[in-house]
Amino acid sequence: MTPTTTPDFTGLSVEHASTVERVAAELRRAVFEGELESGTPLREIALAESLGVSRPTVREALTVLVAEGLATREPHRGVSVATPQADSVRDVCRARWVLEGAGVRAWGDADDVRRDRVRATLVDYTSAVREGGSYEELNDKHLAFHVSLVELTGSPRLVQMAETLMDELRLALAQVDRIRRNAHDQADSHEGLVRLLEAGRIDGDDGAYEFLRRHIDDAEDEIIEALELT
Ligand SMILES: [Zn+2]
Repeated sequence: MTPTTTPDFTGLSVEHASTVERVAAELRRAVFEGELESGTPLREIALAESLGVSRPTVREALTVLVAEGLATREPHRGVSVATPQADSVRDVCRARWVLEGAGVRAWGDADDVRRDRVRATLVDYTSAVREGGSYEELNDKHLAFHVSLVELTGSPRLVQMAETLMDELRLALAQVDRIRRNAHDQADSHEGLVRLLEAGRIDGDDGAYEFLRRHIDDAEDEIIEALELT
C-alpha cells in the first residue's frame, strides 16, 4: 500500500527518546566514575528493574553505549563494559603527542586568548584536584587542559581530532582511577609544563616540548600498567 497522505508521525515519542538518553547518560556516568569495571555484564533485566524502565529502553541505551565504544556486544554473551586495549592506548598517546606537541611549539605565536585558555584550564584542573572532585570531573578537566594545548595551533580541525582522542581515553582513565586512587597526584606536572611555556623555554632536553613528551609517555605507561594491558 502506498501512503496517500502526509504521515502524522504519531508513532514518534520524544518522551521515549529522552528516557533512552537518560539511561545511556546514567550508564556513561557509572562507567566514567569507575563504578562499573571493564568486563562487567550489562544485563537488560537487572538494569530495567533497578532503573525502573522497560527492557527495550535499556536495550536501546546499550546500543548507544556500544556505538560509543564504551560497551561491547558479543554473540551469546550479551553486552558488557568495554575493556581498553593496549594497542589503542599506545596509538592514542602517540597521536596526542603529535597534536599537543604542535600546540606547545605554537605557544610563541599564539594570541593571548589561546594562552589564557591554557592558564584557565590549568587552574580549573588543579583546583578540582585540591577540592577532591569526582573522577569524571577530574578526568574531564585534565583532558580539557590537554585539548587547550592543541588549541594553541589555532586549528579547529586539530582540536576536533584531539577531542576524539580524549573520548577514547576516558574509559581507560576511569578504570585507572578505580584502581589507583592517587591517579591525579601529578597535577603538579601540568604546572611545571605551563611554567616552561611562560618562560618561553620550548626546546632542548629541559624545555616544554620534551617535558610534554615525558608527561604523555608516563600517562601511557601508567594506564597500561594499572590495567595490566600487555
Ligand atoms: Zn596530563
